[in-house]
Amino acid sequence: MNVLFCGAHPDDIETYCGGTAALYKKLGANVFFCVATSGNIGSSNHTMEQIKAIRRQEAQNGADTIGAELIMLDFDDEFLFDTRETRLAFIEAFRRADPDVVICHWTHDYNPDHSTSSRIVDDCVHMATIPLIKTETKPTGKNKIPHVYYMDTPAGVGFEPQIYVDITETFDTKVKMVGCHESQNQWMLDVYGTDMSGFLQVPAAYRGFQCGCKYAEAFRPSIRYGRTFNDHYMPNTLVPRQQH
Ligand SMILES: [Zn+2]
Repeated sequence: MNVLFCGAHPDDIETYCGGTAALYKKLGANVFFCVATSGNIGSSNHTMEQIKAIRRQEAQNGADTIGAELIMLDFDDEFLFDTRETRLAFIEAFRRADPDVVICHWTHDYNPDHSTSSRIVDDCVHMATIPLIKTETKPTGKNKIPHVYYMDTPAGVGFEPQIYVDITETFDTKVKMVGCHESQNQWMLDVYGTDMSGFLQVPAAYRGFQCGCKYAEAFRPSIRYGRTFNDHYMPNTLVPRQQH
């Protein structure tokens, strides 16, 4: 199985679904991390070029922690737009990864790069199979439309989960992966008044409390024509009970 995670910024995948990525890897899946922007505004004291280079290395270290393959699209941070150029870059990433499962941001996430990348993924995932849309890598010819899931939002705001993944056994790995993004600890303190640990412990425990395990990550499936389904291709899944 090939699983492609699409994050807008270099630390998003690890922060919102790193525990699930580690689980997929433990189960033998080929895992790809596609990062849309370079993160080149994420610093109070570096130049754009400096922080871009720092964050590229941090993203590589995060991916290397579990043996994921990193694909950087290198668009400008906070200026990701849905254009022909960005769509073709995502289509090329889909062709390189040949995914069975794609995990992207929630369409209504507060951050514009998050929501824009989500819409590009949802709109373009099937276009990777079309031969007349040319990119460097040719379509596989299998006409495989992957399942798409949305990851949780920052602090879970405005996100109603439909699937939980029990990440208790990989939570320490997730902390290690996010710890690779050292430059973002100070940035998060400068901008939001919390360090990166605030984005890990509390949401994982809260989502775990909701579904009956210690630590969890939350998701929603994207239900569209061509990818409606009964089985969820996710590890350790817990589905909320019906409300009475
Ligand atoms: Zn982000």
